[in-house]
Amino acid sequence: MTAHSNSQRLFEEAQNYIPGGVNSPVRAFKAVGGNPLFIKSAKGAYITDQDDNAYIELINSWGPMILGHGNTHIQAAVAKAIEDSLSFGAPTAIEVEMAKMICGMVPSIEKVRMVNSGTEATMSAIRLARGFTGRDKIIKFEGCYHGHGDSFLIAAGSGAITLGQPDSPGVTQGVARDTLTAPYNNLDSVHEIVKANDGQIAAIIVEPVAGNMGCVLPAEGFLEGLRSLCDEEGIVLIFDEVMTGFRLSKAGAQGVFNVQADITTLGKIIGGGMPVGAYGGKKEIMDYVSPQGPVYQAGTLSGNPVAMAAGLSMLTQINEDETLYADLSKATEALEEGFQANLDELGLGYTMNRIGSMISLFFTEEHVVDFDTAKTSNIELFGKYFREMLNNGVYLAPSQYESLFISKSITTDAVGKIVEANRIALKAIHYNTKS
Ligand SMILES: *Cc1c(COP(=O)(O)O)cnc(C)c1O
Repeated sequence: MTAHSNSQRLFEEAQNYIPGGVNSPVRAFKAVGGNPLFIKSAKGAYITDQDDNAYIELINSWGPMILGHGNTHIQAAVAKAIEDSLSFGAPTAIEVEMAKMICGMVPSIEKVRMVNSGTEATMSAIRLARGFTGRDKIIKFEGCYHGHGDSFLIAAGSGAITLGQPDSPGVTQGVARDTLTAPYNNLDSVHEIVKANDGQIAAIIVEPVAGNMGCVLPAEGFLEGLRSLCDEEGIVLIFDEVMTGFRLSKAGAQGVFNVQADITTLGKIIGGGMPVGAYGGKKEIMDYVSPQGPVYQAGTLSGNPVAMAAGLSMLTQINEDETLYADLSKATEALEEGFQANLDELGLGYTMNRIGSMISLFFTEEHVVDFDTAKTSNIELFGKYFREMLNNGVYLAPSQYESLFISKSITTDAVGKIVEANRIALKAIHYNTKS
């Protein structure tokens, strides 16, 4: 066992001043048991905690650090930007460059507005869709996460056509009523909802590859079906690519599946580790945004020059790296094959979903295609697995319902170490399960 006394002490102190001791709930390790590690630094594939334990990490700050930690180009760009002051609240040249870069990389984005987080991007995108269509209701999918905006915190399983119920206290019934939910990958259900709410649906928002119920791929024809339904009904199709944007290809999931969104929301990788989000899409829709159009959306620190410097460096490196996505895919595939060999050797039931550098190991034998099937996973077993992996030097996302992210720093050597940790961890939980 490794020592965690500094993290322990910090967590106890943190709980006196910060709700739950953390600034974002999933960091608290509640889903896996134990206390969170307080992180001091990171470089490449490794993260170091306050007790100087080093771990290979597969979270990448929940996605952004696709090039690995401590990228020297991004760090240099930030250091240079800081010399000119940290914020102006006035237009800057780098915002133009950043917007041009995004429009160049994601074909469906003709104009883009920068914000400060993925949550802000999705909140703004649905306001825009409502303003553009003059309709109130939106459809989201069970198990898809779109940040913590009121409209998105609606319970799964409340029945596709029945009225949504608030998933969180503080979300009003009025807001909940306007959010309708359908099971992921279920086109028929979406058609039914649209029919029952004729002419009232402003937008359908979807993670084109879901990453927030674990990694769940779109079934064949699902995204295409949403696209044609939206075309027929004048509904705005929003792809929430906060996770998949610049992760699955330069053009995100859209670039992989060749289905274009009307509005795309971005976050995570786009800021290179700084708090950045963006939403963009068709000119005719984006021109509804203030001050060009009537839909109000603003931000004191939006397009912040230091954040833009980090983001632009990140996107430039991605754009110029011709083998990045093939390399990431290859490393992740090696991981998948290693895990599979370990699992099969022990005869453990599992499902593994992967696309590119997103991968989830579910402790269930069911095909995981939506939230209901994801929930068949053995959460207790995952918690044990998480703790064993940590003991063996690998830091996973502390929840079964997360995708792992592979960064460019995960080399063949790191893959070997992760697979070996996985073998030891699986053996440990296997024996525990039997005893
Ligand atoms: C992380 C995430 C968000 C929220 O982004 P924040 O920057 O955490 O507000 C929204 N949508 C998806 C798909 C995400 O993965």
